[in-house]
Order: sequence, then structure tokens, then C-alpha cells
Amino acid sequence: MSSDESLTNEALFERAQRVIPGGVNSPVRAFRSVGGTPYFVAEASGPFTYDVEGRRYIDYVQSYGPGICGHSHPAVIEAVRQAAGRGTSYGAPTRDEVLMAEEMCARVGGLEMVRLTNSGTEAVMSAVRLARGVTGRPTVVKFAGCYHGHSDSLLVAGGSGVAQQGLAGSEGVTAGAVADTIVAPYNVVPELDESVAVVCVEPVAANMGLVAPEPGFLQGLRDACDAAGALLLFDEVITGFRLCRGGAAEWYGVRPDIWCFGKVIGGGLPVGAFGASTEIMSGLAPLGGVYQAGTLSGNPLATAAGLAVLGLLDDDAYVQLESTAAALQEGMAGAFAAAGVTAVLPRVGPLLGLFFAEDAPRDFDEARKSADNGRYRLFFHGMLRRGVAFAPGAYEAIFPSLAHTEAEIEATVAAAAATAREMERDSER
Ligand SMILES: *Cc1c(COP(=O)(O)O)cnc(C)c1O
Repeated sequence: MSSDESLTNEALFERAQRVIPGGVNSPVRAFRSVGGTPYFVAEASGPFTYDVEGRRYIDYVQSYGPGICGHSHPAVIEAVRQAAGRGTSYGAPTRDEVLMAEEMCARVGGLEMVRLTNSGTEAVMSAVRLARGVTGRPTVVKFAGCYHGHSDSLLVAGGSGVAQQGLAGSEGVTAGAVADTIVAPYNVVPELDESVAVVCVEPVAANMGLVAPEPGFLQGLRDACDAAGALLLFDEVITGFRLCRGGAAEWYGVRPDIWCFGKVIGGGLPVGAFGASTEIMSGLAPLGGVYQAGTLSGNPLATAAGLAVLGLLDDDAYVQLESTAAALQEGMAGAFAAAGVTAVLPRVGPLLGLFFAEDAPRDFDEARKSADNGRYRLFFHGMLRRGVAFAPGAYEAIFPSLAHTEAEIEATVAAAAATAREMERDSER
């Protein structure tokens, strides 16, 4: 920093916008859909982030998932510190990559081999290539409102930041790049023909707010894929190791052919992974003909952090995560009801969503109606003024962590009650 006066959110955002597009390195952070100036984080600890002006926020963004143990968990930080002391990247295999792969396969039934990447985007992009390679088929089916990272062929109807920008997909993506992508509505089992290589789905959609799969949807996809000879891909970048030890596949009792992971398994370091049976994964180079690589893949800092996080995620941790999410759900629902604000908080285990609507949406069209009704913006700023940070966009999930205690939940519910009264006054005007 050149001087201390520049350490305000306003001043940093000014400077940021001159040298970084929109002032941010990922669009949702720019506050475009809620308005106002983003807070610049100086540090974070447990359930809290602190901005450069010294304001403290109870944080439910938690880096959009990686912060499952809360920020700066001592075990994670110590693991990263020790790993950094041994060097940051080698371009050669390491022990921790083996431990990481073994740990993931031990937790997820049917997962026999994994390959680590540097992001969830890379994981899904590579997994789709693998699926096309091993099936010899071109078509990818995805669901509207599901986000699978920002690779060309998967950005269509992408939810999350793409939806916040009001974009159907992205400029710069050629018709050719999406020619083999079919978009279907979430929660409806599509008809599959013999051209389909893979059906990609977020088993709990968490990038259009939180939309749970209706009973039978995931099993219906499993059956349809089996009938058509297509592979089923669960994008568990959010749900993996979050819903329970074995992720959404275990939670719903439906086994995909290919899994993608990210977020939680990096403890905040850049990481992703995809995996499948030995048979399918044997299609990958150097065993098979599907090429995939990465200079920093299996990075020693990321694997150290990931192993530390997984080490903390025992059965008790999942019980705690779920009860924290349930307390938040009940408390906030009560606060909205008391103020006469129509809201619904869908929850799947430890994952929570918020819509200002009568009923929980079942697909992207329904999610969009509620997300774009202008209510979230009021909620977001009301909470932020009261020191509680939710994602700056209505299409994101809420991420309570192991570090959120009863005190933070109570403070959050109190802030929600005051914000809800404010929203109700606003709507009467
Ligand atoms: C975040 C996310 C991705 C992309 O992961 P990045 O690490 O941001 O590239 C992919 N799929 C889902 C379901 C996600 O939530």
C-alpha cells in the first residue's frame, strides 16, 4: 500500500477498477446485482471476515464453500505453513497427493481413482472430455441454472454470476463450442438419445440459490443414463464432503459414473478434482488417450490444506454443520414471518438457500422470478450494515461453517429480524 489513507473500501475499489476489470477477479464480487461498494477483506478468522476499514462481518460467504471449517482454521493454517516450508511446487509426484486421493476414495463409495486439478472449472471441463473420450459420443446434457465452471461448452444457462449479469451464456463462446451442449430444465428427467456422452448435474443445485432435487429426479437420471449408455456426472464441487462424508451420492443413494469436486477439498487453496471407477479413469493420459494435465495440479500447499480439512470433517462435524444450518433456517424464517416478509429457506443438510418467494423454486425459471424481484438487494444491504455478510447476489447459497457458534446464529437472526422490519416498511411505501 502506498499510504494508509488509501485503506478504505471506496478508495481501493476506485483503484481496483482502473487496473482490474470491474475491480474484481470474479464478477459476483463487484456487487453489481446488489449495488454499492464491495468491502475489501483484510483478514478472516473463524466465522468472521474483517474489511480494510476494520469492520467485522459474520461471514456466510466463506469463499463460496471452501470455508467449511471457518476461516483460518489453526489446523489448516499450520498444515499450509509447514508445507510452504518444504517448497511450493515441484513438478513431481508427492506423498500428500496419494494420501488425498486415498482419503477421497475411502469416503465416496464407487470412487476408485481421482485426478487433482486447480479449480472446479478445470475438473468439470476435464471430466467432460474424459466422458466424451471413453464413450466416443459428442453430446453433453446440462440443466438450466446449474453452474459447472466457466469453460465454453458449459456456460450456457449457467446460474451464479452468469445469471446475476443477466446473461444467457457468454459472448466469446462460438456456436460450435456449444453445438453439442443440450440444456434441460432442472428436476425433469430429459429424454436421452445415443449421441449423449454425459449428463452433468449439480445433485443439489446451489448456484441458482438452493434448489433441491425432487424425489426421484437423480434416480431418474441414473436410469435414463443406463438406458441410453450415457455417463452420469455429479458436479459435487459444492456438495462434495459437505452434505456428509460421501457427499450427495451418499445423501441421495444414487451413484454417478463421474464425480467432480472442488471448494471444500482445498481448504481455500486453488483446487479441484474429478474421479470415477478405475475403468473410466483409465481413459486418461498416461493410461489412455484422453489428455489432461496441469503444472500446479496436486500442488503441495493445496493437498496439505485439503488433507487438514478432510481430517476435521468427521461424523460429529456433519452433525454440527447440519444443526447450525437448521438453527439459522428456523431463526431467519421466524424473523421474516414475524415481520410479514414472504420468504422461504430451503435446506439440504448443512446447505441453506434463501428466496423471497412463497414456495421453494424447483427450477431456474422459478428461481429467477424470486431472485430478480429486488428483495434480495434490500436484505443484503440491511444485513451488511448490521455486520452480517451474505453473498452479494441472490443466486448463491448460504454457507454456515463449523466456526459459526450459537452466538453468531443469534446475532444473525437478530439482524435478520431488524432487516425484515425495514424491508416490510420499505414495501409499504
Ligand atoms: C464453484 C463451482 C464450480 C467451479 O469451480 P471453480 O473452482 O470456481 O472453477 C463448478 N461447479 C460447481 C457446482 C460450483 O459450485
